[in-house]
Amino acid sequence: SIIGFVTEHAENERRCSVLPINIEAYIKLGATILVESGIGKSINIHDSEYTDAGATIETDRASLLAKADFVMSIHALEKVDLEQTKTTVCCISFLDPFNALEHIKWLQQSGRSALSVEMIPRSSRCQKMDALSSQASLAGYVMVAKAMSILPRIFPMMMTPAGTLKPSKVFVIGAGVAGLQAIATARRLGAAVIAYDTREVVAEQVRSLGAKFLAIDIGETGQTDQGYAKALTPEQIEIQQQAQADCIASSDVVITTAQLFGRKPPLLIKKDVIAKMKPGSVIVDMAAENGGNVEGSVAGSIVTVEGVTVIGTGNWASEVALDASQMYANNLQALLLEFWDAETKKMVLNLEDDILKTALITHNGELINPTIKALLT
Ligand code: NAD
Repeated sequence: SIIGFVTEHAENERRCSVLPINIEAYIKLGATILVESGIGKSINIHDSEYTDAGATIETDRASLLAKADFVMSIHALEKVDLEQTKTTVCCISFLDPFNALEHIKWLQQSGRSALSVEMIPRSSRCQKMDALSSQASLAGYVMVAKAMSILPRIFPMMMTPAGTLKPSKVFVIGAGVAGLQAIATARRLGAAVIAYDTREVVAEQVRSLGAKFLAIDIGETGQTDQGYAKALTPEQIEIQQQAQADCIASSDVVITTAQLFGRKPPLLIKKDVIAKMKPGSVIVDMAAENGGNVEGSVAGSIVTVEGVTVIGTGNWASEVALDASQMYANNLQALLLEFWDAETKKMVLNLEDDILKTALITHNGELINPTIKALLT
């Protein structure tokens, strides 16, 4: 197969989808690799490093798109780009499928295939391809670093002749991949950490990181068969909001990472509770881009709400673009290896495979992922 890697056009995106080390692995498999010129520029990797590894650099994006059997990127290609591709192309990227239904319809009608990395199952077999996890984990780290850089306090306890400083108190709401990494990072920096998640199964993981788990009895919660949290009822949300209010009020930093797969994230912190926090405290809202866990948070911005700094800057993993690119590129490499046919030297999309049954959104004019199919038919 001919595999093409393109530069990213999204605003503030510094990550890329392939590093020279991945090219070496692809070439060993017998793939032909085309890389758009400048792909690694934002992480200081020069075109020549890609050619040294065996790739062909294309300065003309349209020409690359016209040749590739598979196009790999972080963000989904836009229609202007897709129109340059073969109709048999398969594009592999984040697709944000629940918010891209019109685009998906167009993909289907035009015959092009799209594989959405968000829809790769969260199973043991898929761990190495799990781009949601690799990027969320870095996001968890970055959120703590951001909060730390703004909070007018240090995280650890410090006993000095000039007095004793108490450790900062960090409250993490949502202990999925990002939340657990935020807890671990804040703990490493010496903060006293408390966390809450509606999935009780994570309490043990929270404790194993040296943090406390806030117990809230909101009745039946549970998770989907993919392990995602189920949406709470409005009454349950209210119980949660009340039960966590004291913990929020006494925290120096609150980090919210609560998401509901394919749905709008829950609003968990309202302004009246923010007003109870000490002025100068910091809230990081990881969900700001999708509507927010925190009232008043603004996607892409740092704002002040009731004297508290609320960070909603969004593309967190891109802040550590080199490591994020490495992890994402490795996720793609693992995916390609899983479906590589050594004899024909091609990536083969076998529709009977459990991963492709959900990760493929469109293929050969059909809608494949059952959830997206149900939304569109
Ligand atoms: P996510 O981004 O969908 O959500 C983040 C967290 O927010 C979740 O832990 C969720 O329970 C929590 N949440 C939702 N509503 C909340 C509320 N009202 N209050 C507090 N917390 C709330 O989660 P994720 O990090 O993508 O992980 C999703 C699931 O996938 C988890 O069960 C995780 O363990 C699992 N997972 C499995 C694998 C694997 O086995 N390969 C890999 C990664 C994740």
